[in-house]
Amino acid sequence: MSQLQPVRGTHDLLNDVMRKHRHIINRCLLLCERYGFNEIKTPIFEFSDVFLRTLGETSDIVSKEMYTFLDKGGDSISLRPEGTAGVVRAFISEGLTHQLPLKLFYEGPMFRYERPQKGRYRQFYQIGVELLGVENPDADVEVISLAELLLKELGVLSRVQLEINSIGDKASRDTFRKELVNYYKKHEKSLSEESLRRLLINPMRILDSKDRADIAINQNAPQLEHFLNPLSKEKFTHIQKALDDLKINYKINPRLVRGLDYYCHLVFEFRTTELGSQDAVLSGGRYDGLSEIMGGAQTPAVGWAAGVERLSLLIPTELPTKRPISLIPLGDAAEGVCRELAHQLRSQGFAIDMAHSGNMSNRMKKATKQNAVAAIIIGDNELQSGDYTLKILDTGAQLKVKKADLAKRLNASFSHYIS
Ligand code: ATP
Ligand code: MG
Repeated sequence: MSQLQPVRGTHDLLNDVMRKHRHIINRCLLLCERYGFNEIKTPIFEFSDVFLRTLGETSDIVSKEMYTFLDKGGDSISLRPEGTAGVVRAFISEGLTHQLPLKLFYEGPMFRYERPQKGRYRQFYQIGVELLGVENPDADVEVISLAELLLKELGVLSRVQLEINSIGDKASRDTFRKELVNYYKKHEKSLSEESLRRLLINPMRILDSKDRADIAINQNAPQLEHFLNPLSKEKFTHIQKALDDLKINYKINPRLVRGLDYYCHLVFEFRTTELGSQDAVLSGGRYDGLSEIMGGAQTPAVGWAAGVERLSLLIPTELPTKRPISLIPLGDAAEGVCRELAHQLRSQGFAIDMAHSGNMSNRMKKATKQNAVAAIIIGDNELQSGDYTLKILDTGAQLKVKKADLAKRLNASFSHYIS
């Protein structure tokens, strides 16, 4: 039945992929606690307006990637394509304005109708942080340092490069945009089709183009840097100095603009060269105007989001699973004893794998395959003597342990396997 497949661009998470996914989220959550961020969970769908108003009609997301539908009550609903708009909606509708500064962490699925490829899916997962209520660029540095530490702890920092830029305030950008349009108009004949479309609706995105002809034209395009006002420049210098102090490596990329309308001042991205055009691993920036656009009070804010799948693809090795202790009952009488023993040991925190069937050699093979630390073998002899056989699988050593001493013995040898 051809229908019995996941929808294009969606996937099931299993085994090692699932373990990496969970590991990334757990690591991020732990790190966020160290930085004083609290978890928030917003719904995966919102009124479409939440995204339409904030992301900008000309953004790729709104113009072509949103999953939007009318629900049975006739409301226009969209599956969330990103996390920030929902968090800011919650900030306003939950009346959190009096709790500033707010430091929030989220994780969960996002939905975009895109052309699926490695590292690009229609349902994908993000982790992200938002820091609301702090205008000082120290907040920008704090969220970048959190991102850097996360990437370090995940073992992927050496595979990414942090790029930063300042896109200034709206007034600077408006002047810059006019200059840019004038420049591109002079090169209209050589621009790619996509860039010609962008020239009409969102010319700054041309700077971001991956088309070879566009890249050549961009070499001599006006630079936003020359249009920044003194305040923007000062903020950007402050951030660079603080990153230097923290020994966080970065590169200034004057053509980094980001796709969403709500960014201002700092934008940044940790990029990789290992995932083709899916080079953005963790992206963020400042969005001081977003709350106001949504009808809330003006609230400075900065944050980032990272794609869990892209991070996962960069983690090179398989993650170890928890090493169990294998219980091997031989014979009917031993089955019942092992069942009780498994229950007792699991309630003490041990991971127990019950090797129910197969001959002794197959059960031992299974224990090795599960990467068990030890096997406890209980047959008629063991039942009669009350001495259980304990085999340490890493060394092959085999010893007898009295039934009454078993838990103590396991605790002494394997306490680091207890959760
Ligand atoms: P791209 O340029 O690759 O389309 P983007 O600029 O649209 O990325 P953001 O909207 O900033 O990405 O989303 C933040 C992060 O989410 C990205 O850095 C990336 O890791 C991840 N991401 C975005 N879109 C997808 C997708 N379709 N599938 C998987 N991960 C994604
Ligand atoms: Mg995109």
